[in-house]
Amino acid sequence: MFRERGIEIKTSDQIATMRAAGLVVGETLELLRSSVTAGMTTADLDAIAGEHIASRGAVPSFKGYHGFPATICTSVNDQVVHGIPGDLVLHEGDVVSIDCGAIVDGWHGDAAITVAVGDVPDEIQDLLRICEESMWRGIAAARLGGRVGDISAAIEAHVVGQGGYGVVEDYVGHGIGSTMHQPPNVPNYGRGGKGPRLVKGLALAVEPMVTIGTKETTILDDDWTVVTTDGSWAAHFEHTFTLTDQGAWVLTALDGGTAKLAELGVPCGATV
Ligand code: MG
Ligand code: MG
Repeated sequence: MFRERGIEIKTSDQIATMRAAGLVVGETLELLRSSVTAGMTTADLDAIAGEHIASRGAVPSFKGYHGFPATICTSVNDQVVHGIPGDLVLHEGDVVSIDCGAIVDGWHGDAAITVAVGDVPDEIQDLLRICEESMWRGIAAARLGGRVGDISAAIEAHVVGQGGYGVVEDYVGHGIGSTMHQPPNVPNYGRGGKGPRLVKGLALAVEPMVTIGTKETTILDDDWTVVTTDGSWAAHFEHTFTLTDQGAWVLTALDGGTAKLAELGVPCGATV
């Protein structure tokens, strides 16, 4: 069922299938997080992801999407998003952003993490922490009857409040369901109380991209890889969530979001 502005409203059964897809994504990312080691290539990570998604009977969302050639996106250091896995070797002190999507019975899950390769400087650890915190604050700001802008404003306020970071505006979060990308857009900046209303059956992917420099980005000659224009390093975190009467249910988090939302004093809306 589609509402105004092309927003897809899911039934509870469809959300349950999205939870199954989300768990495949969440498991795959945890597997990749624990696999990241200096000396491996981003293609190695892609192979691990492909095998795990297939083992769960799911299908990668990204492979073939507008011609994308791999299972996951791997974006290293100053790469923000949409990096293509390949021969690039991870070194101690790098960071790699891993974006993963999976389809179960036609329904999508989409999430991303940025992982440090061994030890990284404090300023890079802070970048990763602040980006992830902003995502959770965005999700925690979502309420039935609220607006998409409530999420956007919470993300932006958290990052800007730290000072010295760029919030990427060229790429945004999105509605998700029977397709990976669908209305509404979920920007990582904006005003609370604005934008489409948050209703039951809506599912959103929230995905702040934060840099230690400016917000400006450039696309490399491979037509995919997005880098920061100023060469500053970037982080990217993403989860897919929906809203129930109890609160936000983070479909791509293994615990449904319970722990992180509790830290923010917000109930989790997981129903199963
Ligand atoms: Mg993604
Ligand atoms: Mg996404």
